[in-house]
Amino acid sequence: MRHESYPSVLLIYTGGTIGMIENPETGALENFNFDHLLQHVPELKRFNYRISSYQFNPPIDSSDMEPPMWAKIVKIINYNYDYFDGFVILHGTDTMAYTASALSFMLENLTKPVILTGSQLPIGTLRTDGKENLITAIEIAAAKHPDGTPMVPEVCIFFENSLMRGNRTTKINAENFNAFRSPNYPNLATAGIHIRYSEHHIHRPDFTQPMKPHYLLDPNVVMITLFPGIQEAIIDSVLHVPGLKAVVLKTYGSGNAPQKPWLIRQLSEASERGIVVVNITQCQSGVVEMGRYETGLQLLQAGVVSGYDSTPECAVTKLMFLLGHGLSQKEIRHRMNSDIAGEISKEL
Ligand code: ASP
Repeated sequence: MRHESYPSVLLIYTGGTIGMIENPETGALENFNFDHLLQHVPELKRFNYRISSYQFNPPIDSSDMEPPMWAKIVKIINYNYDYFDGFVILHGTDTMAYTASALSFMLENLTKPVILTGSQLPIGTLRTDGKENLITAIEIAAAKHPDGTPMVPEVCIFFENSLMRGNRTTKINAENFNAFRSPNYPNLATAGIHIRYSEHHIHRPDFTQPMKPHYLLDPNVVMITLFPGIQEAIIDSVLHVPGLKAVVLKTYGSGNAPQKPWLIRQLSEASERGIVVVNITQCQSGVVEMGRYETGLQLLQAGVVSGYDSTPECAVTKLMFLLGHGLSQKEIRHRMNSDIAGEISKEL
């Protein structure tokens, strides 16, 4: 039964360092169950919230995350959607940005917060960052405007004081507590003494419409990073892999590639075979502008589509999502050029 007076949050524990424990024999971190995790955060009892949980069994290191597990998370959220004010997903940091990006497309017209968090140190260790991350993520998932609508009805990553739009976020550090960054979009909130929301950067959905869950993904996608000396035989064999439907091409600077006739021919022929090729920059931030240099223009002429300022995680999962819906190449190219979940800045 729903207790209207208490904010309610569903914690979905998928695994990751936050809940891990050191194997005394090997010294390696291994997954542990959720009760262990909660045992180390007695502070949760001090929230005047109804907090329920669902745990993946077994919990997984996020290196083992797969598209069917994203569908499973969507199923859990959809099933519980009317019973909770918000959702917090505990997830390993390694692929958190992929999961957050995928969910942003799979949860269409999301009207409630879905906040992913995790930690760099297990929650049972003395200097853990997991406690702060978890506690603040729960607070954000429950936060509402005076009119009762949620503060952040978006899929977000909260990490080390920053709340970021999930499909704008990328893991930038394997060592420090500030492991994530949103290079091309401002943070949605900053947690200090107070949690300061940047309201005009937060998406407002149509609260009169229902959330529409999507489950279908097609992972026949590849990511290719250009580098000086890249060989035709390798590109040729990748572009001819049976079943390949889309390529995320990580180019130089503002979307440039070497002026090699074989490369342009390979890309044009791939496009003609129905493969969607999307251009994103291998720089950490900034946007693709294929008309800016001759070296970018040739890609446009070869049928390559701009991915604007997409993160790699976002471009790959957006393609999986669009391909999963069986859209035509033309329609996918059009949608890759459109902002469907706040993932690209087209006015740039
Ligand atoms: N390998 C871990 C994972 O992604 C790392 C982490 O949680 O930070 O699951």
